[in-house]
Amino acid sequence: MKVFKFGGASVKDAQGVRNVSKILSLYKGQKLGVVISAMGKTTNAMEGVVQALWDRNQSLFVERVNERRQFHLGIIEELFSNTKAITHEIEEIFHYLIESYESSLPDNYDFEYDQIVSIGEILSTKIVTAYLDHSGHNVQWADARKLVRTNNKYREGEVNWSKTESLFNSNFISMFENADTLITQGFVGHTSEGLTTTLGREGSDFSAGIMAFCCNAESVTIWKDVPGMLNADPKYFDNTIKLDKISFREAIELSYYGASVIHPKTIKPLQNKGIPLYVKSFVDPTSEGTVIQSEMDSDHLTPSFIFKHNQALFSITPKDFSFIVEKNLSDIFERLALANAKINVMQNSALNFNILLDEDKIDVQEILAVFKDSYDVRYNGGLELVTIRHYDEPTLDLVTRNKEVLLEQKTRQTARLVVKHK
Ligand code: ASP
Ligand code: MG
Repeated sequence: MKVFKFGGASVKDAQGVRNVSKILSLYKGQKLGVVISAMGKTTNAMEGVVQALWDRNQSLFVERVNERRQFHLGIIEELFSNTKAITHEIEEIFHYLIESYESSLPDNYDFEYDQIVSIGEILSTKIVTAYLDHSGHNVQWADARKLVRTNNKYREGEVNWSKTESLFNSNFISMFENADTLITQGFVGHTSEGLTTTLGREGSDFSAGIMAFCCNAESVTIWKDVPGMLNADPKYFDNTIKLDKISFREAIELSYYGASVIHPKTIKPLQNKGIPLYVKSFVDPTSEGTVIQSEMDSDHLTPSFIFKHNQALFSITPKDFSFIVEKNLSDIFERLALANAKINVMQNSALNFNILLDEDKIDVQEILAVFKDSYDVRYNGGLELVTIRHYDEPTLDLVTRNKEVLLEQKTRQTARLVVKHK
């Protein structure tokens, strides 16, 4: 069995759904477990629905639900000649959603978030399954709310692996007796009480990893709007290079530094069972893509670089001119913890301790305040952090062109530079 994952962008409209059907046709006769996300920007829209409810704004709630209802009905209209059965199914879901909150107002935000936002994936998988069925695929819909078992941490459900594995064994693999393609939701799970949870934003890649692990799949393919893993973000650079093959380790390193192609949690279950992960283009489905698999000696062949924007560099100096040694360091870390600061890079000299933080996640005044009594703190905002894996001179030149380098760290594999536009 192969596992496929289609994200929101691949099913953002009727054309996208038709394209999914075309891609699946290329694999006729094979057993496919297919994970599908909510359509287009539905997850964001459903977050708006939750917010309206939370703000006790009933009319805005209804308006936002109806906006999503129209969006899905519009796609159905384009896909089916006879829309009756699927329209009925989708209308029921929206009807139930409105009705559920007519009388009872929520008091647990995270719980309610999961109940409502997960509906996006239910809608998309229902529509895609109906369309595939209609187009002659031998397909069945499976409910991930009965497969992926998590704890009760709403919005960030943690997977109970042994339970999930046995649920996939008893309730999913057996469905292949009656169908070649099983469609299920990404991102969602359930608690032992049967209540819906979600796995964290962008969690559908992880869902594909969970399915592959639990079913001992032969491979996972994530279908994207890019030709594979690229060595840089095509939003900012023209001459990107596709990485043909990389190791699991390299993929984790790249996503750790901020490469956003694959959700970082996805890799571990695949690495543990040696299941290869393909990243392929849904626009050009027969092209090679990238394969991510166990140790490989080609990781160093192409330098990859990742930019993190909105960085702020703080330089912390003890007022009494004491050296930066263990005692000072632990005091500095305690103060940073008080200000909830998560450090991206740190570096020290005799009298300075430098840290780089995400500017949009901190309160600068709060950081200055926690240090005020014993340290002088200088602060420089609007910076970028660039990480280069397997760096070479041309790549260093490219990423520092027209920029001033404020801080630099190099290990054998990785260079990290804090830069400022000149
Ligand atoms: N639909 C969810 C989200 O956008 C999960 C996913 O697409 O991965 O975060
Ligand atoms: Mg999505």
